[in-house]
Amino acid sequence: MQLVFATHNRNKLKEVQVLFPKEIELLSLEDIGCLDEIPETATTLEGNAIIKANFVTENYGYPCFADDTGLLVDALEGAPGVYSARYAGEQKNAVDNMDKLLSQLLNQSNRSAHFKTVIALNLNNETLLFKGIVDGEITTTKKGERGFGYDPIFKPNGYDQTFAELPLSVKNEISHRAKAIQQLLAFFKNYNHAIK
Ligand code: IMP
Repeated sequence: MQLVFATHNRNKLKEVQVLFPKEIELLSLEDIGCLDEIPETATTLEGNAIIKANFVTENYGYPCFADDTGLLVDALEGAPGVYSARYAGEQKNAVDNMDKLLSQLLNQSNRSAHFKTVIALNLNNETLLFKGIVDGEITTTKKGERGFGYDPIFKPNGYDQTFAELPLSVKNEISHRAKAIQQLLAFFKNYNHAIK
């Protein structure tokens, strides 16, 4: 079967394709001729993931899954959350976002936070949700060169280094995104058995 992953990022697609059973061919938005930037107008990660997956199924007729991720900081009541990409403005600049977060947490002793990824899957007129969470804390300075987004200021629990200092192989095992994808894969393993 063909299944759309609602992303314009072909590298993200390739990374995920190798994890799927070979009977499932993943297609990117470009593959189905969808060049739109799908508006993320919901106020929750779940809502945005559902909007993206529904957009593809309704307009292109394919089964589809879409993800949405946010960084939720306890002392800021879950901010930046669904607004993580544009926390410091529409320019969506990672350094500006980290600087804003560090200044919001200045002199704050409670630095607990978690990344959360939600995947919405549209299949056979049903919408299913899968989640992955990684707990950690926000450091007081940026450390490390790897990764993207808030990685230089996020230290996962049980590790002494930030996501940007840890090898990518470690991040890919323990991350919010990895956990959500594993849930999705577990679903497809069973689904595959069921349709065989
Ligand atoms: P998206 O939903 O995957 O586009 O993620 C939204 C925003 O959350 C990104 O623009 C980043 O700022 C942040 N983010 C998502 N995943 C990660 C990650 O693995 N590390 C650091 N920041 C992330």
